[in-house]
Amino acid sequence: MKNETLRMCVACRQMKDKRTLTRVVKNKEGQFFVDPTGKMSGRGAYVCHVPECLTKLKKQKVLNKAFKCQVPDEIYQKLENECKEKK
Ligand SMILES: [Zn+2]
Repeated sequence: MKNETLRMCVACRQMKDKRTLTRVVKNKEGQFFVDPTGKMSGRGAYVCHVPECLTKLKKQKVLNKAFKCQVPDEIYQKLENECKEKK
């Protein structure tokens, strides 16, 4: 049995192992966080660490669509930094 939790990347819409994704969370107060632990409470969206996904994410503001509201640019920036670190 494989110990995998699959989540969908909001950019490429593929199911991937949770460990290869970075989570973005919106909490009850409507604040956004990049959540490397995957344990913060709130509504989450996942993005994988593929450069194409990051590019698409920023270009098309995919997170804004996923959360149906404005996501601060710094979240996109933090997400990019986070993904670079994981490589
Ligand atoms: Zn992806």
